[in-house]
Amino acid sequence: MQYQTDAERMKFYKSKPWRKLRQSILERDNYECQECKRQGKVFTKHSKPGKHKVFDVDHIKELEDHPELAMEPDNLETLCIRCHNHKHGRYVWNAFQFKRKPTKWDDDEKW
Ligand SMILES: [Zn+2]
Repeated sequence: MQYQTDAERMKFYKSKPWRKLRQSILERDNYECQECKRQGKVFTKHSKPGKHKVFDVDHIKELEDHPELAMEPDNLETLCIRCHNHKHGRYVWNAFQFKRKPTKWDDDEKW
């Protein structure tokens, strides 16, 4: 397995062994976002697991780059959707992620 295509990755994420492992990682991490934790923020059980998809289990080393670590617990950590999207440069979760436009111009002041 190389996980180079979306289809391959989808298949992996839907597989039973992964779902089982994913669940055990969530429990290991106590449903806490490890990235938020590192930043000193607390973003934990806002909603009960299963109700909303608040947490993802992330591959620290990307699946496509390190397929051999696909099922390696040391390569897995719990991230909240926000951090997960941030890591992968996705901004679909706009409810959390408002990009503020600068309102004042500090340089280039006009008289
Ligand atoms: Zn987070």
